[in-house]
Amino acid sequence: METENVRRQEDEDRSKFNYEEFEQVLEEIKKKDYDKVGLQGPDGIKKQIVDYASQLEDEGLETVIIGASTFGACGIADEKAERMGADALIHVGHTRFLHPEGDDMDDLNVYYLPYREDRDLMGVLREHYGEIEEDTIGLVGVTQYMDRAERAREFLRDKGYEVVEGTTGLRTTEPGQVLGCDAGAAHNIAEKVDAFVFLGSGHFHPSQVSETGKKVYVVDPYEEHIWIEPPNSLDDEMQAEYARVIKYKDEKKWGIVTSSKKGQNYRQMVQIAKEKLEAHGKDVYVFVEDRIFEPDYKGFGIDIFVNCACPRMTKDWQDLAFVSTDALDMLDEVDIKH
Ligand code: SF4
Repeated sequence: METENVRRQEDEDRSKFNYEEFEQVLEEIKKKDYDKVGLQGPDGIKKQIVDYASQLEDEGLETVIIGASTFGACGIADEKAERMGADALIHVGHTRFLHPEGDDMDDLNVYYLPYREDRDLMGVLREHYGEIEEDTIGLVGVTQYMDRAERAREFLRDKGYEVVEGTTGLRTTEPGQVLGCDAGAAHNIAEKVDAFVFLGSGHFHPSQVSETGKKVYVVDPYEEHIWIEPPNSLDDEMQAEYARVIKYKDEKKWGIVTSSKKGQNYRQMVQIAKEKLEAHGKDVYVFVEDRIFEPDYKGFGIDIFVNCACPRMTKDWQDLAFVSTDALDMLDEVDIKH
């Protein structure tokens, strides 16, 4: 009976998540003297953004919606909202992004409304936790489920596991939260744990956590079970990048690509990569664009580009070679061998 009550409470909580957090933001906004508010968010919750806009309009506020979807709070659109006369922006989907090079992320008044996925994460954990073999585990996950991290932690402790809470990373604001470009929350506690429990789905984020060298148990509410991401599962991709650098090592012209999105604009990284390439005798050309698509980079007569924007893109290019700054270490190695 007690379990049933807990489940019912969890179901009710899940159905309230996003609207409760929106109500809080709405209350804060109503206290201000704003006339117009911008909204932006990722694919998948666009209907909800229109819904939020309706509620703001009902409160007497004008709204403007940013058309392009956003993949993270790295792509904060405060400048676009301001250009449309907005006094504030609600960024839906993600928590505030911290810029690793210390740049300011928001010039306008920005309210962050992280999206919480309405799926039965705790049900999956309750049913399958027995598959977790290690005694000491680190608890991490993606933004969509971090609102349930405390509950998951308590549950696992009750079942006898020693649970080490993830810290915040270089770019994140919630303890244990992992982004595609920042698994610092896991790396910071890796030495204290035998394995990680990850709240979320898909291979991309768990593979970043696996770079700690530890096994990752993925509590996946889409697959409705717990599956394992093996340690260091990104090694093959890194090897593929090294292979690309070796293939193009004698090319004279190299490109560096960064983004004009605030959280993907890494000017220091660009400078470091440029100096490194020039030290290897390369002619280096720096490119910038908001969203980065491979076709834009065809026709310049450059065959290899270095990614100084979102690290998630590095493996996506098909025709041109696209490598991370880490892969440039291979140039040192081939030079030494010569
Ligand atoms: S992985 Fe890319 S899109 Fe996601 S937060 Fe990091 S920079 Fe932004």
